[in-house]
Amino acid sequence: MNPLAAILQALFPAVCAACGKVLVNGERHLCVDCIASLDESHETLSAQQLLAGLLPLQAAMSPFRFRKGNTVQKVVHAMKFRGNSELCLMMGRQMGLELLHSGRFDDIDLLVPVPLHWWRRLQRGYNQSELLCRGIAEVMPREINTSAVVRHRYTRQQSLQPGASRAANVDGAFRLRHPDQLAGHHVLLVDDVLTTGATLSACTDALLAVPDLRLSVATFCIAR
Ligand SMILES: [Zn+2]
Repeated sequence: MNPLAAILQALFPAVCAACGKVLVNGERHLCVDCIASLDESHETLSAQQLLAGLLPLQAAMSPFRFRKGNTVQKVVHAMKFRGNSELCLMMGRQMGLELLHSGRFDDIDLLVPVPLHWWRRLQRGYNQSELLCRGIAEVMPREINTSAVVRHRYTRQQSLQPGASRAANVDGAFRLRHPDQLAGHHVLLVDDVLTTGATLSACTDALLAVPDLRLSVATFCIAR
């Protein structure tokens, strides 16, 4: 490490995005204790089961479990509300490893992040789901498409809506702009958190108009 970098690190030490502890050599974004305490969902079929009644899917996976106060919740908060874009990439790589390991997503040929409305994207500076896709693609090289489907209607934050009104909040929020870019592909639709499936369902409503499309879904975590 050059002297200037060493001084900067001493003055502004990097801290863990989940617990706030100062990171030591070799740690990036999360300390080893928090990485070890990421709750795995251990039931890759739960996303599949939850979405099976809602969507016609080839496969679905949510490798981590979101619970109130757990490390996964803190990671999601850092990804969405504290501007930690590097953490999104890192968690995307974790997702990529899980997808590869499962063997159920091998013939995916296109990654599509659930789009943000342009205004929310401007406020946040990035779309966390797009960065998750970039992390996935580092492990499982696939093209990423961010132009075929758009969120044309601004919606209130889903996590602040009671379960019953989530579907109405996002109903009709997505629109296909370039269906030709998706036709004939096996698309993996990627989002950060799966709760009721309302957002994925609304996005899928738009996607299912694409001819000859096969669709799978992966979210970083499931909150059930
Ligand atoms: Zn930590």
